[in-house]
Amino acid sequence: MPETHRIESEVAGTPVNAYLVEGERELVAIDATLTVSGGRAVRERIEAIGKPLAALLLTHAHPDHYGGAVEVVVGSEASVVATPGVDAAIRRDDETKEAILRPMFGDEWPRERTFPTQLIEPGAEFAFGDIELTVRDLGPGESPHDSIWLLGDDQSTVFCGDQGYNRMHCYLADGHWENWLAHLDALVTDLPADVTLLPGHGDGAGRELLDWQRGYIECFVGAVRAGAWSDHERAKQEVVDAMASYLEADDLRFLMELSVEPVAAQLGLLEPSRS
Ligand SMILES: [Zn+2]
Repeated sequence: MPETHRIESEVAGTPVNAYLVEGERELVAIDATLTVSGGRAVRERIEAIGKPLAALLLTHAHPDHYGGAVEVVVGSEASVVATPGVDAAIRRDDETKEAILRPMFGDEWPRERTFPTQLIEPGAEFAFGDIELTVRDLGPGESPHDSIWLLGDDQSTVFCGDQGYNRMHCYLADGHWENWLAHLDALVTDLPADVTLLPGHGDGAGRELLDWQRGYIECFVGAVRAGAWSDHERAKQEVVDAMASYLEADDLRFLMELSVEPVAAQLGLLEPSRS
């Protein structure tokens, strides 16, 4: 049974995971973290293990998971693999992400990004020696396009991307939370009872991770709906306060804060600016 390694990058206060699956002869990486340093840390772990990287698989279309790809695959012949939907969303949004992330992260946001080089159809199985993975394409959810990767025949280890953050604040600004909730329902039903979920942020967990995620999304959207949006700043602060008491940890709080106004706008709560 292939072994799984987690590499957590905490560059610039942004904890995010990449994983390596170690087979008999080669390695497969899942996600690449956000930054140059994070991607290099994955590369260093690959070198320490001492087996070639066969492929880098991407779970979803957010830059904190593909940004470091250029550093992960440098010097290797690894293909970068994603479903067509994930690939299209990454390419479409990369320029917008550059404009947002360059001022936040400077040179830690790679100057040159690597995009998928191999597309895999939804549901397809993928084998590298004794490493077998199946992709489940989800469509819009946490990001504009999500997928998850299931390891082995019994699929009891799942690289679930950001379907479930493990007790960290979450990003909802893309506005597809209703789809996200539907994915959570489907995954709770479909995944084995003893599944190990290896998320994009935080520690691995069982299926309860998906229940926690549902609770967070419902609390967040409820707090936005409850805000008195005639006063933007006050309403925003109320949501931030509500979520800070829902989850005491500060991890990724900036992602939650970035999500308040987009979700309020999507719910039709923001009046046109009077300034
Ligand atoms: Zn993420």
